[in-house]
Amino acid sequence: MFFIKILKWLKKNALQIVFLGALSCGVFVLDLPDGKFHLYFFDVGQGDSVFIKTPENKHILIDGGPNNAVSKELSDTMSFFDRTIDLMVLTHPHLDHVKGLINVLKSYDIKRVMATFVIYKSTGYTDFLKAVKDEGAEIFVADSLTDFDFGDVFVDTLYPFSKINGQTFKDVNDSSIAMKIIYKDKAVFVGGDIGKSIEKKISEKYSDIKSDVLKISHHGSKNSSSDAFIKDVSPKIAVISCGKNNSYHFPTDIVLDTLKKYGVKIYQTDLDGKVEIVF
Ligand SMILES: [Zn+2]
Repeated sequence: MFFIKILKWLKKNALQIVFLGALSCGVFVLDLPDGKFHLYFFDVGQGDSVFIKTPENKHILIDGGPNNAVSKELSDTMSFFDRTIDLMVLTHPHLDHVKGLINVLKSYDIKRVMATFVIYKSTGYTDFLKAVKDEGAEIFVADSLTDFDFGDVFVDTLYPFSKINGQTFKDVNDSSIAMKIIYKDKAVFVGGDIGKSIEKKISEKYSDIKSDVLKISHHGSKNSSSDAFIKDVSPKIAVISCGKNNSYHFPTDIVLDTLKKYGVKIYQTDLDGKVEIVF
């Protein structure tokens, strides 16, 4: 308990660590993995940023939200001494998903980046692509065969079914990467901002998309989360990432009602702040 308090204090007083070299060895011991799967929905305002710390201390970051709030969330969540993101995923190039990743690319050691690399014109996306290039991370163009095995955690990419790099989309939300992250008998479904037509395609292609936790697509908009899709995923927990009093009035009642109909426990970042789920 004593060392945990010191760890917290050290994080808050990083500049003074130099005077505490002797204590830092205790901190390293405490940074050993705790053998649990930690899933975070960061509080980044009107946007998405999902973070996973695996039992073997691998770090997966899916989207970065609309600002630099993700950087503060990461420094609160990761050890001060660990600056490695093993896998960064950009689901699609909208600003509310891409912006925060730029600063993370500049200040963390990113091992792998998976994105669709569709064509989309915005400064945020251009800056992201440049930062990815500068970082020198291993680059993966998403398709359903591009999966990642982190030992006890498997990232199963479900959509896009084949590579869509270089393509333009009328609605770029529907180009979002969707994946199931599997740990033992638990699964988490994260699908960016896919709309109902893509949810349907995914439901039709895969025999089992059941997941314990579902990140609600497109911040709870009425264009996603069809009754059939929620039924197919049959989550125990749904998390909606959206901004407090956002101008889109997300989440919509129709999505909340569907989730309630199936008895799904709902968490919202606008009401609950950062959501952490531990398996
Ligand atoms: Zn979005």
